[in-house]
Amino acid sequence: MEFSSKLLENAVNEMSQLPGIGKRTALRLVLHLLRQPEERAFQLSYAIQKVRAEVNFCKSCNNISDTELCEICANPNRHNGVICVVEDIRDVMAIENTGSFRGLYHVLGGKISPMDGIGPQDLKIQSLVEKVKSGETKELIFAMSPTMEGDTTNFYIFRQLDGLDVKTSTIARGISAGNELEYADEITLGRSIIDRIPFVASLKS
Ligand SMILES: [Zn+2]
Repeated sequence: MEFSSKLLENAVNEMSQLPGIGKRTALRLVLHLLRQPEERAFQLSYAIQKVRAEVNFCKSCNNISDTELCEICANPNRHNGVICVVEDIRDVMAIENTGSFRGLYHVLGGKISPMDGIGPQDLKIQSLVEKVKSGETKELIFAMSPTMEGDTTNFYIFRQLDGLDVKTSTIARGISAGNELEYADEITLGRSIIDRIPFVASLKS
């Protein structure tokens, strides 16, 4: 792509670093911003800077939050004995949208994937195990995406819990294998949490 301006080229290059944004889309977005009033573009860049510099993660569940404890963890009406283990914040949002779950979450920040160089130590697994050891957790619901990496992660955590007094279950696989959790429709996802099965049973199938 030939550019008539170095400034334009820079902006397009930066924008195209984002996932799913190719050079053509990046150019369209930059040209769009140039047609907008100046403050629109400044507000966008300010919001990006602000979230990047000041973002905070809930010290209990690792969800993105503006406060030390996220709204879910801080809510006394949530059942703190049940923890839904998810890969990232999008899964929390998807499950919250179903309105079917009243427990708490634990956001791992990814899944074990040796191909991508992501091991258990790169995820928030130890803090989850510590949480269970501290005693209040009665049940962990594994809600990872039904992929090989998701299964590996579930199994790894399951092994870490050996000897601890906690029930483990996994969401029913209404969602077809390989689908990402966030794309499951709300009704299916809601049902899959209600119809969860003991984790051990999922290993046999
Ligand atoms: Zn939290």
